Amino acid sequence: MSSQNIHPLVAVPPVAEAAPEKMAAVFDSQLATALRWRESSTRERIERVRRLREAMLARRQQFYDAFAQDYRKAPAEVEASEFLPVMEEIRHVLGRLKRWMKPVKAWPTNTMLGTSAWIQYQPRGRVLIIAPWNYPLSLCFGPLVSALAAGNTAIIKPSEMMPAVSALMASIIAEVFPENEVALFEGSLPTSTALLAMPFDHIFFTGSPAVGKIVMAAAAKNLTSVTLELGGKSPTIVDDSANLTLAAETIMWGKFINNGQTCVAPDLVYVHKSVKADFIAKCKAVLQTRYGAGPAQQKDSPDLTRIVNRRHTQRVASLLTDAVARGAVVQTGGEVDEASCYIAPTLLDNIGPGSAILEEEIFGPLLPIIEYEQIDRVLEEINAAPKPLALYIWSTNQKQIDKVLLRTSSGGACVNHCVAQFAHGNLPFGGVNNSGMGNAHGIYGFRAFSHERGVLRSSPLMLIKMFFPPYTANRTMLIRKTVDMLRLPML
Ligand code: NAD
Repeated sequence: MSSQNIHPLVAVPPVAEAAPEKMAAVFDSQLATALRWRESSTRERIERVRRLREAMLARRQQFYDAFAQDYRKAPAEVEASEFLPVMEEIRHVLGRLKRWMKPVKAWPTNTMLGTSAWIQYQPRGRVLIIAPWNYPLSLCFGPLVSALAAGNTAIIKPSEMMPAVSALMASIIAEVFPENEVALFEGSLPTSTALLAMPFDHIFFTGSPAVGKIVMAAAAKNLTSVTLELGGKSPTIVDDSANLTLAAETIMWGKFINNGQTCVAPDLVYVHKSVKADFIAKCKAVLQTRYGAGPAQQKDSPDLTRIVNRRHTQRVASLLTDAVARGAVVQTGGEVDEASCYIAPTLLDNIGPGSAILEEEIFGPLLPIIEYEQIDRVLEEINAAPKPLALYIWSTNQKQIDKVLLRTSSGGACVNHCVAQFAHGNLPFGGVNNSGMGNAHGIYGFRAFSHERGVLRSSPLMLIKMFFPPYTANRTMLIRKTVDMLRLPML
């Protein structure tokens, strides 16, 4: 396909900020709904999620057009990376919600004999969802599905950088829900700041670690609980036993889907010195097969999403310029066309110390490749950096795999795969410290939006009576014996 056939990037007018009084009024109006929804049944919650699904599917073509306008994303990628995760989330809810909502029995511990207990999953109440621009549909509607499954009302604030997609999402939300149930407010910093000042019962934020800190500080003012789905630099290790063909094919997919604008994309690859040349040759061949044999063809490829805007194109281009100035070798790619928000899929090696590309999250189509000889040095480097959102190890050596998984920490990890952990509905998806806190997806998403309330019920045989005053000598002795009993091993 030639560039004439590629959907032109259209300058969509920037989103207007939502009026603070309007947002406050909607927030207030959701209180009565949230109290009512505490008693909502599985059927009612499923009904809400189904309505969202039908409205979303009815606008499929409009979504293709909006994604093409905002950053020229191919329909196949809209399906695979936007519709698929939301549909999977919904399917999971439809099949499992009844079970998730059931109280979970808690067996009595020694001193609780004679009681029964359970965990009750309650909706948190009114929740706020703030989303980033890189997967705007999946990261707004995915968490919304979990919020609705858990019985909450919601206010959503998508990113201002995807005006066409967010306008479409706004129209769907307005069509499917009255504002006192779910509302979507478009806007940037002022809208986000005004929302963050409100005493929500939970905030689910997806975005950068820097803004995550601002969100957490704002939430602290109201002691609002938070789920923070953040980013970071996800390291990838390819050792000398790895299946290089599979590694090259999969890493090139995980890196260049959405043109590298993916929170769990491999951010840098450590390759064993003995296989580096072979690995790079295979990666280049994969890129040529997928996107075109040379720079001109790759620039014309309809399958390469564009960088979201000129500011980000400049940011990524400056990482490239800085790396090259410090001695990096461009193995393939390196072409930049700021006007069309294009940077070619680029592989770099020989990265010099102090290069910004080794410090900042790249979030674009550049992949630094670093050769290593000693895995211990790689693990030291990984552990010296903030904990990443993901870590990938490519190896057929089980001892090596175990060592890497045991000695490192990251939100999630894959062995001989990458990025796909996001799509596994039975795995918790989240970060750790700098890459986030709390989890999303499936039952973990349901629990993120639920309060786990511990409930204890007494039987007529009230053993607690022995702890009541007056503290006679006998009673004191009995309490002391009870405490001593706890030194016995558990059965
Ligand atoms: P961002 O943090 O700049 O913005 C996220 C949201 O916060 C947007 O809606 C934005 O309007 C709002 N915002 C921005 N500045 C704010 C401020 N000062 N106060 C209040 N709200 C503010 O992130 P982004 O550029 O949209 O997205 C890229 C980042 O998101 C990357 O770091 C990426 O790794 C991360 N991310 C994480 C996940 C995940 O699931 N863990 C998924 C996608 C993206």
